[in-house]
Amino acid sequence: MGEFLSKLKEEQEKLEEQIWRIRDDISTLEQVKDKILNYFNSDNAGRSESAENSSILDGPLYYSADKVENTTKRMWVKDIKETYYMIVSAWQMLNACPRNEGKKRIEKAKSCIKFLRIAESAFGQSASELEILTDDEAKKLNKAWADAFQKCKAIINEAVDIFMGKEKPVPPKVNVKKINDNNFQLLCGVCGAVAVEFSVGKTWYHQNPGVLYTGIVKSTALHINHAESIMKLLEAHNIAELHKYLHEYMCYEGIDAYCPKCNKVYCSEHYRTREVWDEGFYDCTYGWCPEGHKRMIDD
Ligand SMILES: [Zn+2]
Ligand SMILES: [Zn+2]
Repeated sequence: MGEFLSKLKEEQEKLEEQIWRIRDDISTLEQVKDKILNYFNSDNAGRSESAENSSILDGPLYYSADKVENTTKRMWVKDIKETYYMIVSAWQMLNACPRNEGKKRIEKAKSCIKFLRIAESAFGQSASELEILTDDEAKKLNKAWADAFQKCKAIINEAVDIFMGKEKPVPPKVNVKKINDNNFQLLCGVCGAVAVEFSVGKTWYHQNPGVLYTGIVKSTALHINHAESIMKLLEAHNIAELHKYLHEYMCYEGIDAYCPKCNKVYCSEHYRTREVWDEGFYDCTYGWCPEGHKRMIDD
């Protein structure tokens, strides 16, 4: 074997070993998971379903697991388990990457990222549920759960990047792309992918034409009366003013893909989002731009 090949093989083995070692972090996550499940089961009595009217919602939030009714508990257990198993699945896909090549390898890497996203969502939900419990044990477990999860997520994220085989993304020269007088796209400030689209027209779910908005987490239609103002701002490439306009007339969060601090929009890959769940119900979505600016982008 030539020197080059043996070096390549050496690097590959090192990489495989690194991926293998991630299992240590996953096993920490598993241990915390089991502790939480034990904690939930520590008082099997739970609360009778009929007592659930005096709801947790009425707060003050002095709750321990034995005050939570069994149906809720089962839902929480499901979210904890889902978080863990999705991380395991992400790791399995990651682990398959070095042993595949070309398109197949990228497919595995993409599946890994998909599982990570599901894990993130399940984790967000489970963390919001654990937050309701305010006894010391629950607080401790919640912190350990978050630490263990974030560590697994970060390390898998970093490793999977190696296999995505992407060339460095190229930022677009202009952030607004005009398709025609009635159709504009806002492009991601990192990679140039379409992040938001505006078009004047009709949809199957609206009788009258309007301004259709499609963002990264939200799509909606505005009254046709807004068409002129919106198209004018798009024509002028004035995203900051457009954001203000939509903040006033569409929704409080304005353009969901827009970071006011950067004055840029980002695609769903580069504007990382996290859904917040409150006691099992969707609450809102936060977004982080690549510069780390955080804001609520959907409510
Ligand atoms: Zn992008
Ligand atoms: Zn930003």
